[in-house]
Order: sequence, then C-alpha cells, then structure tokens
Amino acid sequence: MEAEEAKKKVVFSAVKPTGSMTLGNYAGALANWVAMQSDPSYDCFYCVADLHSITVDVPPAEFRKDTLDDLATYLALGLNPEKSVLFLQSHVSAHAELAWVLNCHTQFGEARRMTQFKEKSKRAPENVNVGLFDYPVLMAADILLYQAELVPVGQDQKQHVELARTIAQRFNNKYSPTFTVPEPIMPKVGTKLYSLQNPTAKMSKTDENPAGSVLLLDPPEEIMRKFKRAVTDSDTCVKFDRANKPGISNLLTIYSVFAGVSLAAAEKEFQGSDYAAFKQRTGEAVCAFLAPVQKEYKRLIADKAYLSQVMKDGAERARRMAYKTLSKVYRKVGFVQP
Ligand code: AMP
Repeated sequence: MEAEEAKKKVVFSAVKPTGSMTLGNYAGALANWVAMQSDPSYDCFYCVADLHSITVDVPPAEFRKDTLDDLATYLALGLNPEKSVLFLQSHVSAHAELAWVLNCHTQFGEARRMTQFKEKSKRAPENVNVGLFDYPVLMAADILLYQAELVPVGQDQKQHVELARTIAQRFNNKYSPTFTVPEPIMPKVGTKLYSLQNPTAKMSKTDENPAGSVLLLDPPEEIMRKFKRAVTDSDTCVKFDRANKPGISNLLTIYSVFAGVSLAAAEKEFQGSDYAAFKQRTGEAVCAFLAPVQKEYKRLIADKAYLSQVMKDGAERARRMAYKTLSKVYRKVGFVQP
C-alpha cells in the first residue's frame, strides 16, 4: 500500500487572489485541477497564492475578501478537501523561506527575461517592486517544495514553470538530487482565453476594460451583457481561425470549454448561425455552467467556520511535505541544524 502511495505523482498549482477569477482561470488551470484530483495516480496540492498578490498594490480589505472568495470558488467548482490538499500560501512559511534559497540560485538575467515581468512593469511603472521581479522564483519555490512533477497552468505560466525546471536542475547538479523537475500541463482547448473586447490580449482579472473579462462570480445578466458586446469581425461565418478571426475563435473556444463539446462540434453546431445568436448561445452556455457553481459559492462563503477548517487542515498537510523538502535543502546548502 505504501509503495503504491509512493509512486503517486504530485500535482501542484495555484491562483493568486488579486481580483475575482475569470473564465480564463477555469479554462487554463482549474478545469485540469478538478479532473486531476479524481485520478488516483495523482496527489494534488492546490493553493491560493496570496503571497504573490502583494506584488501589486491591493487594498487589504479587498485582498482578504478575494482570498476567501477564491477558496470558496475552488470548493464550489468541485475541488474536494478530502481528495486534494487545499491551503493558503501564507499559511505555510516554507514558501518564502525556500524562495530565499532559490533566489541565490537564480541569475538576475534569467529573471529579467520573464515576459510577464516585462509586461507588468510596463503596465504599472509606478510600482516595479523587487517582489514583482522575484515572483517567478517564489513560484518555483511553491512548486519545488512539494516535489511536484506536474503543474497544470495556462499558456502564460509556461515560461515560469520552465524557469522552475532550470532552477531545480541547477540545484540538483550543484548539490545532489533534491528536487523533482516539474513539467507544465496545459489543456488541449482553452490554454489561453482572450479578452472579449480585445481578442488578441489575454482575458485577465485586472483588465483595464472590465467588459473584456467574464468573472466566475459575475451575475448572469452581466455575463450575457458582456457576451452581447463581444468584439467579432465583419465576416459572417462562425469558423475557428485564430489568425484572421480572433474574436470568433475565442468565443468558439469558450463555448467548447463551458458547453463541454469539442471545437469541431462547436463549429458544426453554429454553421450558418448569425453572430448575435452565436454570442447569445455562448453566454447561455457559460451561465448554465456557472449557475450551480455560484449557488454553491454563496452557501460556502457564508460558512466561515467550514472555510477556516478547510484552510487549517490543508495547511497542516501542506506543511508536513513542505518542511521535509525545506530541511533537506537547508542541510544540503550547509546551514547548521538548530
Ligand atoms: P493568475 O490569475 O495569474 O494567478 O493565474 C492562475 C492560473 O490561471 C494560471 O495557471 C494561468 O496560466 C491561468 N490563466 C490566467 N488567465 C488565463 C487566460 N486568460 N486563459 C487561460 N489561462 C489563464
């Protein structure tokens, strides 16, 4: 039994609680999280990455609400604390501790090449803090602490997982095998959802134009309004063609993920349909998917005692694994044991 347990692959992933989660978070990451937790060959660790959130300016009360909202939404989407370890990153201090050690094994030039850092510093030049620069190293610590083999993420995080691989390999070569070298896992469809208003830019929680991002907790009327206003093109045919028809391709992708049909089936379903009807049906599919999730979220967010219990149990289980890795790392680096 134990030998079997030992063979399980560890899965780790996280979302940072800055603003409410979008359809993109579900399509790129959480859909895979939910699917992977039901596979008995995986041991899943999913956290709310609150340490990552303060790399941007967040009002504390809003931040606290977003953090609990994300945890309740994880549960409402079907993540089960009996099957997965669900916790808050700041409850396991080993994340910050390992990040420091990894900082000393990461080259400045490597961190400077990260696309997301370049984009985010351009977007908020008044707050290019050291934490923003260091974000990918903290993310490497998140993953490596749990000896994760698989990291389900959207396309935008692939480069960060690759950096985690580089750091792990460097550490293993310098000392001796310590970390499992992780691999990103991306969905076949929905690895990057785009803004409904600018279908060549990523759908993001912090979009300047909120009409472009559909939030998992948006009320149905709001969701329908956003789809109705979604940018399309001057053509009339509903066809997947990312280069020439980015708006329609994005809507087809969203329909495919939330109606649970293949892209080919979605295309076939809307053959000959006009854009208004297509947008309406896509909005309806999203609302139908989200209705039970939002209902469950409302129940859970009112049950603070249950959320506290989930966080507490999850952090205890996460700590056991995290400190095992951290003490191994400290020993290898040469810190004198207390
Ligand atoms: P973040 O919101 O940056 O913490 O991202 C959490 C997870 O959601 C990561 O795995 C991202 O790759 C994924 N994600 C975020 N936005 C999108 C998007 N527009 N399309 C697909 N995946 C996304």
